[in-house]
Amino acid sequence: MQIDPHKCVACGNCIPVCPMGAIYIDPAIRRATINYDECVECSTCYRGMSQEHLNPVMVRAIRRLAKMFRFRFEPEPDVCPTAAFVMEELAWPRTVRRVFSDPLVEHKSTGIHGRGTEEVKTNDVAHRVSVGEAGYVIEFGRPGVGVRFRDIQKVTRELARAGIGFEPKNPITHLMSSPSTGDLQPDLLNEKILSAIVEIKTELGRVPEVLEIIDRMSKQVDTVIAVGVSTRCDENGEEKALSALLDEHGYSFHRAKTNLGLGRATNREQKPEGTSDQHLAPVR
Ligand code: SF4
Ligand code: SF4
Repeated sequence: MQIDPHKCVACGNCIPVCPMGAIYIDPAIRRATINYDECVECSTCYRGMSQEHLNPVMVRAIRRLAKMFRFRFEPEPDVCPTAAFVMEELAWPRTVRRVFSDPLVEHKSTGIHGRGTEEVKTNDVAHRVSVGEAGYVIEFGRPGVGVRFRDIQKVTRELARAGIGFEPKNPITHLMSSPSTGDLQPDLLNEKILSAIVEIKTELGRVPEVLEIIDRMSKQVDTVIAVGVSTRCDENGEEKALSALLDEHGYSFHRAKTNLGLGRATNREQKPEGTSDQHLAPVR
């Protein structure tokens, strides 16, 4: 994303709109400017504000005149009065920023918008997580924080070292140069995105071990990590094994979602178990 300095009138309306705090008024040029390294190409500034197409010379003159008479001319707060934002064509590897940060952009590897994962919400028909298994969604970053791929790699490497495989349909797995080692493509490592999800699954008994790895690695990365752990419920909609494990190892958790038959029906035989139950176990 760029701001055209010939159009910007430095009204500052766009500054609070950016979820990464990447826009600032540069005092040297007296125009809004984007910190290119921090911008995650989410397009919120471009799409989230009305573009007024007023003449910049006229707006600047009115603002100067208003200042002389000690009153302020400010456009509506959700408006860029001069349509100064310019959405650039991106080149690799910067393209990944937009794919992972702009919810309207489709992820080519999965055909899904945004971070590009169906997670385990469709487990009732996808059967990705079976009885006796735990599925994990490990979510990196948040608006205001973001995440660089090098920090995701720190965690994926550690999981791979423990012999844990990655969900092949997940976009982060697609960007790995070596899923067996958890290595991501080297030219991506400095790219910053709003958030991403890594998906894995293990036998149920390994839940404490996996959470310990994530807990330990979360202290070595410059971002925030949230973990969802899912398992299948029994035919009564109950689940005890995962709750007991989390409880035993001191994780306070919340039964967060019980998804009933989300996703398209498949021809595969439905398993007798009921729904998929996701717990959120905060990393301490
Ligand atoms: S809203 Fe538009 S004119 Fe105002 S500071 Fe931002 S880019 Fe410049
Ligand atoms: S594209 Fe997103 S991150 Fe970049 S400047 Fe605009 S709002 Fe901020």
